[in-house]
Amino acid sequence: MNPAHIEHIGIAVRNLESAIGFYERILGLKCHKIEEVADQKVRVAFFRIGQTSVELLEPTDNDSPVARFIEKRGEGMHHLAFAVEDIEKKLDEAGRKGIRLIDKVPRRGADGKDIAFIHPESTGGVLIELCEKRNGK
Ligand code: ZN
Repeated sequence: MNPAHIEHIGIAVRNLESAIGFYERILGLKCHKIEEVADQKVRVAFFRIGQTSVELLEPTDNDSPVARFIEKRGEGMHHLAFAVEDIEKKLDEAGRKGIRLIDKVPRRGADGKDIAFIHPESTGGVLIELCEKRNGK
């Protein structure tokens, strides 16, 4: 898949405001954006560290995937996102190699990106997201 870099690390939190407080007051990072992604029923806060972001995810609904994750495993690391080019082609290739995909075609994620998830069953237990910056699409 040749990822260019780690685009972001997704962290599931129960309460966005209190999590933002930790990242700002203790780590000294600045939250530069808060966005609601209706499709995934989450509110997302972004902190940039070099090329990589920390993405805090707060569920907005009890039946969202992130809410179910927190219920099962508690708060914490949720997924790892790689920046890729030509995301459709990368998904296609992975699918043909027998990798189990959650998203066979990319969908719209937060922060102007096209995203797709790969099932942890095929990745040694890590939920991996591929993402590509939309350029005027
Ligand atoms: Zn993500």
